[in-house]
Amino acid sequence: ELSQRMAERSVDVIKYLMKEGQMMKPGDVIDADLAELIAGEFGHTVKRVAESDIEEGIFDIKDDDSTLKQRPPVVTIMGHVDHGKTSLLDAVRNANVVSGEAGGITQHIGAYQVEHNGQKITFIDTPGHAAFTAMRARGAQATDVAILVVAADDSVMPQTIESINHAKAANVPIIVAINKIDKPEADANKVRTELLQHEVFVESMGGEVLDVEVSATKGTNLDKLLEAILLQAEILDLKANPDRTAEGAVIEAQLDRGRGSVATVLVEAGTLHTGDIVVAGDEWGRVRALVDDRGKQIKEAGPSMPVEVLGLQGTPQAGDRFAVVENEARAREISEYRQRIAREKAVARQAGTRGSLEQMMTQLQDTGAQEFPLVIKGDVQGSIEAIAGALEKLGTDEVRARIVHSGAGGITESDISLAEASDAAIIGFNVRANTQARDAAAAAGIEIRYYNIIYDLVDDVKAAMSGMLSPER
Ligand code: GDP
Repeated sequence: ELSQRMAERSVDVIKYLMKEGQMMKPGDVIDADLAELIAGEFGHTVKRVAESDIEEGIFDIKDDDSTLKQRPPVVTIMGHVDHGKTSLLDAVRNANVVSGEAGGITQHIGAYQVEHNGQKITFIDTPGHAAFTAMRARGAQATDVAILVVAADDSVMPQTIESINHAKAANVPIIVAINKIDKPEADANKVRTELLQHEVFVESMGGEVLDVEVSATKGTNLDKLLEAILLQAEILDLKANPDRTAEGAVIEAQLDRGRGSVATVLVEAGTLHTGDIVVAGDEWGRVRALVDDRGKQIKEAGPSMPVEVLGLQGTPQAGDRFAVVENEARAREISEYRQRIAREKAVARQAGTRGSLEQMMTQLQDTGAQEFPLVIKGDVQGSIEAIAGALEKLGTDEVRARIVHSGAGGITESDISLAEASDAAIIGFNVRANTQARDAAAAAGIEIRYYNIIYDLVDDVKAAMSGMLSPER
C-alpha cells in the first residue's frame, strides 16, 4: 500500500528494507516511523494525519462572524444546600407557566426555557456545582451564567465557596441571588460583605457582580433576577449560527421503557431537525422525534434550546458532546473511534497516568503552560492560608501554582470532579478523602497527595515545578 501511494514498485521498497536489514514481504505491517523514513528516502514528503482528524469538521466548527445571531443565555443555579436552589428553579418555572399558554405543564427534561420581556432564558434543571463540573469534566461547557444562591438568614457557607470556585474555574460569570429575604432575620448586607472575602464584589460594594434580593417561596423579585440575567447576557454578547448542522451537549440521558433511549441535549449552535443523524458521545442514531420542555413534539430546535432526542441507539452520558453528521457511515465511524478512545482511556486511567504531580509537570512543559493548578483541602483555614502563601512565593516567571479551590474539610467527590475539569492535582493537608471521593479519583485517574508537614508539601510542589519530583514518599 505504501509503495502504491508513492507510485513506486513494491519490489524497490522491499529492496530498500533489505538493505536496512529488515526482511519483509508485501502485506507485512510496518509502523508509522519506518513508513515515514521510507517515504523520505524515496523523495516524498509526508503529512501525518492524526486519528483525531476523524472528528475533524464535526465538532467545534468555527462560524464566520457574519453568520452569528443572538442566542438566549444558559443558566445554572448553584449554592449551599438548603439555601433555596430547587425552590428558585421551581418558582421561575411556575411563574412562567402561569403567564404562558394555559394548562402548559412543564416536563422535567433536565432544562427548561422561560421568556421574559420577549427574550428567552434557558435554565439547567439540575442545581449545584457537582453536575455542572461533572459535565465540564466530560468536555461540555454548557453554562453561560451561574446564579449563586445565598440564603440571607445563613450567609456564605462551604458549598457557597465551592460554587464560587467552580464557576471561576470555568470562567463563568456569577449573579448573586440573595434568597429568603422574606425572613425577619434576613441580612442581605452580611451576605454582600462576606462575599467580599471570596472575591465576589457586588455592585453596591464597588464591584461588577450583579446581585438581586429574592424570595423563592414568596416569588419576590423574580422578574429582577431574570432582568439581571438578560443584562449579563447582553454584556457577554452571546451568539451562534442557527443556519448550520447542529452541535451541542448532552444534559442527561436515560433508557425509557416505552421510548427507548431518551437524551436531553442543549443545542449550542446550528439547528437540530427530526431525521438528522447525530453522534452523541460514543453513541449515534437518527433523530426520530424531538420533544420540548412542555412535552410537545417539535420539528426543530435552535441555539440554547433544550430538547429531548429520541432515536439514539444507546444512552450517552451527561456532558457528552453531540453533533449532526452527513450520513450513517460517518456516524458509525466516529462512534467506533470514540468507543475505542474511551476504552484506551479506561486502560490508561487504571494505570493512573493522569493528575499525578509528575505527569502534570510533563504535560505543562509539553504545552508550554505556565500554571500549575491545585485543589487544596486542609484541616483548618489557617494551615490552608499558610500553604497558599508558601506556594505563592514559589512562583517564577515560567511557572506558578494556581489554587483552583481550597477549603477546610475532607476531600469530596466535588473536589475530584473540579480537579478533573481543571486538570488539577489534589493535596490533602491533615485530611483524607472519603470513600466516594477515593473511588471517583481512582476512576478518573486523579492523584491525591496527603501531607501533614507544610515543609514537605511545599518541597514536593517545588520539585514538581522544576520537573524533578522524587517518587512517592
Ligand atoms: P436547596 O437545597 O438549595 O435546593 O434548597 P431548597 O429549595 O430545597 O430549600 C430549602 C428550604 O428553604 C425549603 O424548606 C424551602 O421551603 C426553604 N426556602 C427556599 N427559599 C425560601 C425563601 O425564599 N424564603 C423562605 N422563607 N424559605 C425558603
